[in-house]
Amino acid sequence: MTTSTRTRRTGVLVVGASVSGLNTVEALRRRGFRDRITVVGDEPHLPYDRPPLSKQILSGAWRPERTLLRAPRMLADLDMELLLGHRALALDLPTRTVQTTAGPITADAIVIATGATPRTLPVPEGVRGVHVLRTLDDALALRDEFAAGPRVVVVGEGVLGAEISATARQSGLDVTMTGPLHAPMAAQLGDLVAGQLADLHTRHGVALRLGVGVQSILGEHGRVSGVRLADSRTLPADLVVVAIGAVPATDWLVGSGLTLDRGVVCDARCRAAEGVHAVGDVARWHDRGTNTAVRLENRTHAAEQAAVVAANILGAEDVYQPIPYFWTDQYEVKIQVHGTVPPDARATVVEGDPAQGRFLVRYERDAVPTAVLGWNMPKQARMQRQILLDAQSASGPALTSAHSS
Ligand SMILES: Cc1cc2nc3c(=O)[nH]c(=O)nc-3n(C[C@H](O)[C@H](O)[C@H](O)COP(=O)(O)OP(=O)(O)OC[C@H]3O[C@@H](n4cnc5c(N)ncnc54)[C@H](O)[C@@H]3O)c2cc1C
Repeated sequence: MTTSTRTRRTGVLVVGASVSGLNTVEALRRRGFRDRITVVGDEPHLPYDRPPLSKQILSGAWRPERTLLRAPRMLADLDMELLLGHRALALDLPTRTVQTTAGPITADAIVIATGATPRTLPVPEGVRGVHVLRTLDDALALRDEFAAGPRVVVVGEGVLGAEISATARQSGLDVTMTGPLHAPMAAQLGDLVAGQLADLHTRHGVALRLGVGVQSILGEHGRVSGVRLADSRTLPADLVVVAIGAVPATDWLVGSGLTLDRGVVCDARCRAAEGVHAVGDVARWHDRGTNTAVRLENRTHAAEQAAVVAANILGAEDVYQPIPYFWTDQYEVKIQVHGTVPPDARATVVEGDPAQGRFLVRYERDAVPTAVLGWNMPKQARMQRQILLDAQSASGPALTSAHSS
């Protein structure tokens, strides 16, 4: 790692060299931006994709190179200065200068694309065998642990916890999933689908110890030995994976003058301040449809929001208003969700049959469709997306695609 005190000057500085940062650069170049672009990313790897980490990388089906978002030659064609292994330390808003471990960088426009970092639990000092999963290095370290055939406890019943449990189980491991909710992904997908997921995991041999929080992680002789639950039960473990969500990576922005509130707070055009935009997992933008500040953590959002940010840097006034979309793969099941599932939404199976392992669920609130979910029915779910757009046009700008105002 080199350090310098000379101030670099650049047209656009992107902080975070992952999917939302890279997509912003690509969109800028596509729109004809020819000035200098600098990208600072604290990971040592070329930009890679995270969804395969909990699936194909953890299972060993893919080699790490397959996760690369673009081939090195395509990155070279973008003609950007890529400072990998370097961290942004602070932002001076009036001069638009970012202090980095590679020295200060002053830019006409700054894009904050620093994503999120996993929440953790306290681990007794010196105890090994407790992991999180966010980066490629995390995934490779976890995969190495799988090789010893450990008893795994996955703490967290959200999407990541459910995917890790599925992959660990398919790798032949003894897996227990634990978390405060009564079924996997109940918070994201509601009771109907969460119940199906509970059955799916149980059928595949995952022990569900749900509806109870974790009190502490236990260790013996420098190695994790179990998880103590709030009801005093202990789950024995040789390996613990903590998947209890992630917090936006805004530590380096504290004191910058930007508004930070569970993310970088932005307007409807993803602008955090004059000449500063945020994109992807780190951004909490004003969603005009719901008139609330929204932050999404999914792959498609990162790419779609990047296109809007690039346009706005170049002078457009585009409002970002997506129909959220995410997918998850667990065992033989592929789930796609278009739209938003409010906690009080009513879920109805509108096609297929859960007993047959293929079905479509429509979510409604106050008789207005808010989301569609396909369980091994990707095409049908995509087709139903139109219903969300129709609902939006009928009831005002509740759910629309990204568009210019
Ligand atoms: C294991 C896993 C599986 C997933 N699976 C799915 C899925 O199946 N479907 C789906 O829709 N979504 C999935 N996601 C979510 C999706 O990958 C994220 O929404 C997406 O990666 C967000 O992209 P981003 O560029 O905003 O942030 P990130 O991908 O987190 O990238 C941010 C980058 O900025 C770097 N950084 C942070 N702070 C600094 C700093 N101060 N200086 C320099 N660099 C910094 C980080 O190290 C990182 O490289 C998954 C995520 C994970 C972790």
